[in-house]
Amino acid sequence: MKFKTGVVVNGVVIVQGKERHAALCQVILDAAKEFDRESQRKYGIEAVITSGIEGTHKENSKHYQGEAVDLRSREYTEEQAVYLMTWIKNRFPSCDVVDERETASHIHIEYDPK
Ligand SMILES: [Zn+2]
Repeated sequence: MKFKTGVVVNGVVIVQGKERHAALCQVILDAAKEFDRESQRKYGIEAVITSGIEGTHKENSKHYQGEAVDLRSREYTEEQAVYLMTWIKNRFPSCDVVDERETASHIHIEYDPK
């Protein structure tokens, strides 16, 4: 698994003018690792995390709490992306997988226990 330059996994983020410490939570790291593992096993493609706790997201984004990552989607065909999103949804029922390929060229995974 690779990280795009500039991705922050542990640090201080400013949200609504306030400093907040955040670190990617274990379930999100596990989900990203599993995405990468299956991507490499099935397609020979190493996954790339394009956003962790940093970046420009909506104010209440789970990224700023360390509970979301974005994974680059442009390497995958439609079929491959759908397969991998379904794979993660099935293995991590506490996570939501959001298809943001149309608007942002990535797949967003966030921790959202029901
Ligand atoms: Zn995201």
